[in-house]
Amino acid sequence: MTIRVPLPDCRTYTKDGRKHIRDVFEALDKLDDKLWNHEVLYWQQFTMKGKRYALPIIAFRTKQRGKALWIIGGIHGEEPAAPNAITDHIGFLNDIAQRIPVVLIPLCNPAGYVRDWRYPDAKRIPRDYDGSSVGNSEHLLPDLRKATRPRARKPVSEDADRLTEFALKTATKYQPQLVLDLHEDDSTRSLYIFSQGRKGANDPIAKEIVNLLVREGFNIRMKGVTKAGDKICDGVIGKLHDGSIDELLAAKRVFHDGSFRRGPHAKSVIVLETTSKRVPLARRIAVHREVLLLSERFFLAAAKETN
Ligand SMILES: [Zn+2]
Repeated sequence: MTIRVPLPDCRTYTKDGRKHIRDVFEALDKLDDKLWNHEVLYWQQFTMKGKRYALPIIAFRTKQRGKALWIIGGIHGEEPAAPNAITDHIGFLNDIAQRIPVVLIPLCNPAGYVRDWRYPDAKRIPRDYDGSSVGNSEHLLPDLRKATRPRARKPVSEDADRLTEFALKTATKYQPQLVLDLHEDDSTRSLYIFSQGRKGANDPIAKEIVNLLVREGFNIRMKGVTKAGDKICDGVIGKLHDGSIDELLAAKRVFHDGSFRRGPHAKSVIVLETTSKRVPLARRIAVHREVLLLSERFFLAAAKETN
């Protein structure tokens, strides 16, 4: 590809072994432009050590449209495994792009990535509040008490506005069959994943990913209730009103341009988590790589489902 984005010589937090931002973009530049279109959704501007920078949020989609596989990474800047795994496998992505429609947003929050900040505007705190996430979709989702109005009056940020707008617009031409939103979790040593699609916690793809995590030696919390009150079913949390881009892509109805309309209603929406607490990055990347390499098979299975 030729993204030809003029990259500032931007320092990157690399203490955990993550790729320098320059290497991330150089890898993405190898996506074949005969197969992929790309667009800059937003230039994130920020100050680091007294200097101003701007980094682009770039979205890719195959030229081939239709029922699609969606791969999302790097929404939270302190979770480097997904953007690192994705940029290690550009050849694989070019390969599947010849067979199936794909939407790829590999690094949703570059300004967070280079600083190891969770959000574009904040490092971590408060941990349980995901309000300024670049994937925040509350302005497009129905209010939980009164479904005739949106949950929030306006987007939390320009970043979130552009990302969620792209997701809604693109979902009409690249209907999401499977969404893989790749995250990490540094808050706990025992983890669970999320399944926001039509089958919720019973999605066989979610179960397969839990098994994969177990095989890779990750400690899965199979049962119980989270602090937020969500029930864990065999390592999976089902449908959730968390205002995320995952809820948006799974939604039957969305609020857009002043009224409600049909939402993307993705079949399977899986949010992968890998524990980053005391687990080396290489081991976490290995899991994201495996899920990525299975994504075409998962997609074909999801696309075949009739409900
Ligand atoms: Zn995350």
